[in-house]
Amino acid sequence: SLVLVTGASGFIAVHTIKTFLENGYPVRGTVRSHAKGEYLADLFKGSKVPFEYVIVEDIAQPGAFDEAVKGVAGVAHTASPFHFRVNDPQQLIEPAVKGTLGVLESIQRNNPDVKRIVITSSCASIMDDAAPKPHVRTEKDWNETSLKEVEGKGRDAMPIDMYRASKTLAERAFWKFIDEKKTSWDGATICPPMVYGPILQQVSSTSGLNTSNASLLDWLTGNKKQSDIPEVAPFNWVDVRDVALAHVRALTVPEAGGERFIVGAGPGSPNDLVLSFERHFPDRKTYPKGDALKVEAINAQSNRYDGSKAERILGIKYHDIDMSVKDTVESLITRLGV
Ligand code: NDP
Repeated sequence: SLVLVTGASGFIAVHTIKTFLENGYPVRGTVRSHAKGEYLADLFKGSKVPFEYVIVEDIAQPGAFDEAVKGVAGVAHTASPFHFRVNDPQQLIEPAVKGTLGVLESIQRNNPDVKRIVITSSCASIMDDAAPKPHVRTEKDWNETSLKEVEGKGRDAMPIDMYRASKTLAERAFWKFIDEKKTSWDGATICPPMVYGPILQQVSSTSGLNTSNASLLDWLTGNKKQSDIPEVAPFNWVDVRDVALAHVRALTVPEAGGERFIVGAGPGSPNDLVLSFERHFPDRKTYPKGDALKVEAINAQSNRYDGSKAERILGIKYHDIDMSVKDTVESLITRLGV
């Protein structure tokens, strides 16, 4: 049965499409341009089930998905702006919320046969960065702090809070829609922390690299210094291949209906990144030095997003950070010559 993947040109989406195809689900992807579609058609031309694409230039336009949703049995909605080049929260909130509701409204109008819709939310919709560390967060938690920041400060809020608010509001809108409309289909949401992994998407230079891998590249190339390595792990992380599989399972495993899933492998720190660089790419002299003795202490003081529900219900077995970083760097070298 055909699956729709929105934002098909994105870092997470290309892995998600690959995993759907490998599991025997034909995929229709939405992209903004023919060039992006043709890149994917070429990438997936040898797959055992077909990939096709349709153009959706702007997910925030009314009726944008009216054609794209026809004939699909399920949807993985990944499209949403993930960058910080904004000076007004609406630049992120509008596409995030209208894009999500737009998919749902098009389904209601044009496709009575859809069984489930999965959306790519984020730990951004769960986190409370103001809470003292260490602390644990689960699927029961919601990010109120970023919403308050954006409500209170508007255009003066930090772009990262604008992004986090956009993800929180989009996920809330999703659950509210299901609740209020008593939809014939059910939903699930995937909430990853920082995602690393090999790049499959079309990208021709480091300036076009997706936001999360770009943050790893900053450490590899020495844009960040020794003194920037924090004593408390600043983020949790997960491998993109685990996130992709989580989308496939969330769309197909019956028990996933109605559930949020944190898909996260645990705390991660720049210290872990640079130690992996040292282990696998010792000849590069570009990055700062890590401290192997501090790994546990740094990560133990972090907040933790509990990713065990995805292990239990979706059968995810998380990649190890060392191998994930190695694979990411190898792909950055091969694809971008970093
Ligand atoms: P990318 O930037 O690679 O992917 C975002 C995708 O959304 C792109 O295909 C982009 O198209 C598309 N898109 C954005 N805005 C619009 C719009 N207005 N109209 C049409 N398409 C649009 O990032 P990721 O793959 O990392 O992100 C995918 C999803 O995962 C997002 O929802 C993000 O919030 C979420 N996420 C990502 C995490 C990470 O660390 N990477 C962590 C947690 C959640 P185009 O490139 O053509 O603009």
